[in-house]
Amino acid sequence: MSSVMKKTLTDLNVMELMIPAEKVAHVQVGNPIEHALLVLVESGYSSVPVLDMHYKYQGTIGKTQILKSVMGIERIEVEQLSEIKVEDVMHQDHPTLKLDTDFLTCLKVVINHAFACVVDEDGSFVGILTRRAILKEVNKSIYAS
Ligand code: AMP
Repeated sequence: MSSVMKKTLTDLNVMELMIPAEKVAHVQVGNPIEHALLVLVESGYSSVPVLDMHYKYQGTIGKTQILKSVMGIERIEVEQLSEIKVEDVMHQDHPTLKLDTDFLTCLKVVINHAFACVVDEDGSFVGILTRRAILKEVNKSIYAS
């Protein structure tokens, strides 16, 4: 990466790259996984953030986790979809970003994750940063240099 390119990219901040919370599909910890599955299928996303009732970030939930949790030995136990809660199957180890996280850290995070949630100092959810947004900027820089 040339120093000019590195400087331009590192000037970018999370705020200008993220999708703000109001445009992000999410579910709540206490929702049944049936609701989460509906949100995921309707939105077409493979995974979405999980928040508590105070809009604090709690984790992420995806289609694979939901389907695994209702997988019986001989059949898919569909009736479990209304029994199991989002908090029982969500991932809690998904990395998060802060508004002041630098671009290169964001880049490293999205190598292994399609998106990362952005939280403020109180842990309140403020948006997501996607791999697509980061790659778009890297692509722009390559062609600009
Ligand atoms: P993309 O880079 O647009 O393909 O998004 C990557 C992943 O980020 C998607 O599969 C979703 O898990 C998540 N995502 C992107 N946009 C949204 C959104 N508006 N609401 C919820 N999740 C999203």
